[in-house]
Amino acid sequence: MVDTSPWAQLFKGNRTMRHGTSVDNPAEVIDVIVVGAGLAGLVAARDLTDKGFQVAVLEGRNRIGGRTFAREVVSTTQKVDFGGTWVIPAEHTAVMAELQHYAIRSVPTPLPTHFITELDGMLSDKGFLFESEIGEMTRAFDVIARRAEPDATADGALRSIGLDAGLLAWVQATQRYLSGAPLTDLSGVDCSGMSPSDLANPDHYTHTIDGTSQRLVDAIAGSSQATLLLNTEVAAVHTTVDGFAVLDRARNRLVARNVVIAVPLNMLVDIDFRPRIPAATALGESRHAGHSVKLWMTVRNVVGWPRLFSASGPIAYARLERQLDSGDAFLVGFSDDPAMANASASEVQTALQAFLPDIEVLGVDAHDWNADHFARGTWMAPRPGQLQQVGALADLSYTNGIHFSGADLCVGNYGTIEGAIVSGRQAAARISDQP
Ligand SMILES: Cc1cc2nc3c(=O)[nH]c(=O)nc-3n(C[C@H](O)[C@H](O)[C@H](O)COP(=O)(O)OP(=O)(O)OC[C@H]3O[C@@H](n4cnc5c(N)ncnc54)[C@H](O)[C@@H]3O)c2cc1C
Repeated sequence: MVDTSPWAQLFKGNRTMRHGTSVDNPAEVIDVIVVGAGLAGLVAARDLTDKGFQVAVLEGRNRIGGRTFAREVVSTTQKVDFGGTWVIPAEHTAVMAELQHYAIRSVPTPLPTHFITELDGMLSDKGFLFESEIGEMTRAFDVIARRAEPDATADGALRSIGLDAGLLAWVQATQRYLSGAPLTDLSGVDCSGMSPSDLANPDHYTHTIDGTSQRLVDAIAGSSQATLLLNTEVAAVHTTVDGFAVLDRARNRLVARNVVIAVPLNMLVDIDFRPRIPAATALGESRHAGHSVKLWMTVRNVVGWPRLFSASGPIAYARLERQLDSGDAFLVGFSDDPAMANASASEVQTALQAFLPDIEVLGVDAHDWNADHFARGTWMAPRPGQLQQVGALADLSYTNGIHFSGADLCVGNYGTIEGAIVSGRQAAARISDQP
């Protein structure tokens, strides 16, 4: 992929896009504009150029990868993922196919050796749910799914069926970690669609991508013939007689017969669609509930490979992820308190000492996705009523050419790396398959 920022240079200069499309005249109509160079947009662009389409990818940031993003942990030389990381090889078949295609391995994450779990203020060494509890959860979820009350919160739905307090606290803990949101913000229908056996095992995301998720991002972009424009924040998408006019903040304009909108759900409200697309506006305004904070903590005085799991307090989940040559170690953790993105080492140490009294926190590092202008949240966690709007948007082939893509909209796989890849492939197929 060619980085040809800024946009004006490309479209007002004497440049030629790949595949010979002249762009001397910015009014020329190209085949496809992809908005957003996260995994969904990059996969869509690659698949389309593989089939001979002329594609321009417009990305607001100065980098590709979106909510997958790797860098060194501050004050160390250890490169880690600050965004999407873990995959489930047996379930994430689209990710595994991409990894195989680019000869990248998936690597098992070290299994915890012991568990420290807080439910209802009580600490225990419970690591997983028992079979009988999984059965109880399955029955509860079946009732909620049958009731299918779109406006019920997960908290309301689980309480209305009288779920056991211990199980409720367990679901609360899993959702603080898996959704980055409290049960009172989450859709009851969505919660009941989760696999009870996944909820029973908080460590069910078992593998990482060798060399970080960035490696897969770079491999996909590197094998794509699309033209990439960084620092190009799309402000408007207007339907024209030729297709779609896409305008950036500086009012640069490019027209294409098809558009793939692959931005986070929480960013949809910033794009002026004409004519209006009610589901996009509604979702963008209500925003999904996911506001997790992922923390990389450099720690000392930790024995073994502990996993912490908690229904309350600042840290929802943490586990020892990597032993360092220095003798120190990395804990990776998640909080559902957005303020934790700026927590000091001593604040994090105080929070962790509730589980591990001897732990010393030497440093803490995070990317603040909630404050990030191009994300405004972490991964998709549906609020009550949002799933219908998501379905409507994902299925929409607006005026035969506008396609909404991205992990946030990928029903069945949303909020994951898998969802981004699946939805990018679907968007490309919808365009290439049209008569
Ligand atoms: C902290 C964190 C941890 C996660 N952990 C995991 C995990 O372990 N496993 C897992 O499977 N998933 C995980 N995820 C989720 C996963 O990373 C995402 O679901 C996935 O990467 C989203 O890909 P996407 O292409 O749909 O969206 P994005 O990656 O967000 O890409 C959208 C792109 O659009 C760009 N953009 C936004 N607005 C505009 C605009 N107006 N104009 C132009 N460009 C724009 C953005 O800059 C971005 O590059 C995690 C996410 C986060 C944040």
